[in-house]
Amino acid sequence: EKRSYDIHIAPIELDGEPHAIGVFYDVTQIERLERVRQEFLSNISHELRTPLTSILAFVETLEDGAIDDKANNRRFLSTIRRNAERMHGLIADILELSLIESGNVTVDFKDVRLRELVQDVFTSLSSLASERKIELINNVEAGKRVLADPVRLEQMITNLIDNAIKFNRNTGTVSVTCERRGRRDLIAVTDTGEGILAEHQQRIFERFYRADRGRTREVGGTGLGLAIVKHLAKLHGGEVSVYSKLSEGSTFLVELPA
Ligand code: ADP
Repeated sequence: EKRSYDIHIAPIELDGEPHAIGVFYDVTQIERLERVRQEFLSNISHELRTPLTSILAFVETLEDGAIDDKANNRRFLSTIRRNAERMHGLIADILELSLIESGNVTVDFKDVRLRELVQDVFTSLSSLASERKIELINNVEAGKRVLADPVRLEQMITNLIDNAIKFNRNTGTVSVTCERRGRRDLIAVTDTGEGILAEHQQRIFERFYRADRGRTREVGGTGLGLAIVKHLAKLHGGEVSVYSKLSEGSTFLVELPA
């Protein structure tokens, strides 16, 4: 690994001979954090600027007379609303992530009925799925319980199922299963979408990382969903991983200590 040092050297006389003494400060970590911070700021600015530019453009168009254009004025307003909602969602995700990262979120472990929780998430995402004729399949055994914070677990499963719908093909399926392996419960969310290239698979859990920028913007993602899932899984003492084959679909696996 490449490391960076801050070096201070001073002349010194030892036994009447001139020497030099140097102090090496390892600043690798500080530089890395600085880079992460800069990237984060530039990502946030970029993500906010895109919808904001669109809002301003449509407001100007309305001001310039389109407000009386009966055929289009409502359409322009709904574009403004959609972009404002996008910014709203982005800010909510950023706040959520920073709250989790600051360590101010506690996990309130309960015995959660998983099948019912998955069904609730399916219900709240059903219109998104039916728009594209995607079938939602709950394969979690009746009576299955896992140890987790119910609110946080629902948030994780919602983000994963939401992605599984968004990145699916029309008339595809999303299925959820859960099995016990050793001392862990493995919750799997599987889709029949386009899959994820191996080179992206590790990076998609990073904040703002998207495998396909153009396409994801189209489906309306913030690039923060999986970062939130990863942090929440860790808070539970578990983890999240992905298995995917291009053009065959993806499976996201949440492991929770049983
Ligand atoms: P987004 O808000 O863009 O969905 P996420 O953090 O949830 O952000 O996901 C990051 C990226 O990972 C997505 O933009 C997409 O490229 C990829 N991704 C996530 N889930 C899936 C999936 N089920 N199938 C294919 N690609 C996915």
